[in-house]
This record gives sequence, structure tokens and C-alpha cells, in this order.
Amino acid sequence: MRKGLPAVAMDLDGVMVDFTTGFTSLGNEMFGTPILGAETQQNWSWSEILNGRQIDAIWEEILADSVFWLRLKPQEELDVERINKYARKNVLMYITNRSGYMAWEQSVTWLLRQGIREPLVVVTNSKLKACRKYGLTVAIEDAPSNLKDLYGYVKTIKRNWPYNKTSPSNYDADSLSEALDTLETL
Ligand SMILES: [Mg+2]
Repeated sequence: MRKGLPAVAMDLDGVMVDFTTGFTSLGNEMFGTPILGAETQQNWSWSEILNGRQIDAIWEEILADSVFWLRLKPQEELDVERINKYARKNVLMYITNRSGYMAWEQSVTWLLRQGIREPLVVVTNSKLKACRKYGLTVAIEDAPSNLKDLYGYVKTIKRNWPYNKTSPSNYDADSLSEALDTLETL
């Protein structure tokens, strides 16, 4: 019998979901600051476009918003069939550091609306702890802090962006589909 493929921690923002445009669009509405996409975001800390006070104010809005996470756009055209197929045969969980009002519910609903079947979503402040708890051995991830925490403990497939170019990883991918290509060889 063929061995199953690895149990995966799939990230949402910066991998499946275009958080950068959502966050900076809110900044634009509030302060008139530039709208960036992940491909033009140079620093994880937003330091090129926003100051600390503005960032805090944007987060305050997001945390109280019942639809912010729900309204974000996919990061790229999602091959939902491929993801569902993987999840039918193997373990695939959506592990996210999101926070705020009904962040879990918004995440589940967003995935369902894309066509993801029965999405297993975990909201956590430690992806490493979640990977250990659920036995996940591969993470598809973009955030510098998570890439650093996870490296050496699980295999990481980094979704490449300018803001994570110095972060450690086992594999690199320029798109989610490239990350899935890598995953299917493990
Ligand atoms: Mg992310």
C-alpha cells in the first residue's frame, strides 16, 4: 500500500489569502497611505508605509470587525479541487495566527465559500505547538517569525515574498501551486 503524504499545516494569510492588500487598503481608507500587494511589501513590519500608531489603529479596527477576514481576496486563483483531493486522502489543517472578533468563524466561512470541503481551522498564537499537538510534519508558511519557529521541527515550504527573503526554510515556492507540487513529492 502506498504510504500517505505528510500531514500539513496550511497557512492562510500570505499563502491562500491576500492579507497585504486587505490590511493596506484599510490603512488607505483610514490614513491615505499606499496600498501594497505581498509582492511589493518589503518589510514585515510595514515600516516603509505605516508608523506604529497607524498600525495599532488599523489592528484595532480589524479586531472589532466581524467581516474583515471574510472579505479578503484569495492570494491567487485557488486550485480548490487539488486541495480538496489532498485533504480527502491526507491530513490538511489550516493553522492561523489570526485574531479578532470571530476570527475562527470568518476563516471557516471564507474557506467554505472558496469551495474547500470541511475545512479544519485552528487559530493559535503558536504554530509550532499546533503542529506538535496535531502531528503535522510539513508547514506551508510565509511569516518570518513562524518560519523561524518552525524550522528544524517541521519541514517548511516557504511561500516566497520580499518580506521573508532572509527567513529559513526547507523548500521555497513562488506560488501555492508550486508549494503543492513540492508537497506531493515529500
Ligand atoms: Mg501567513
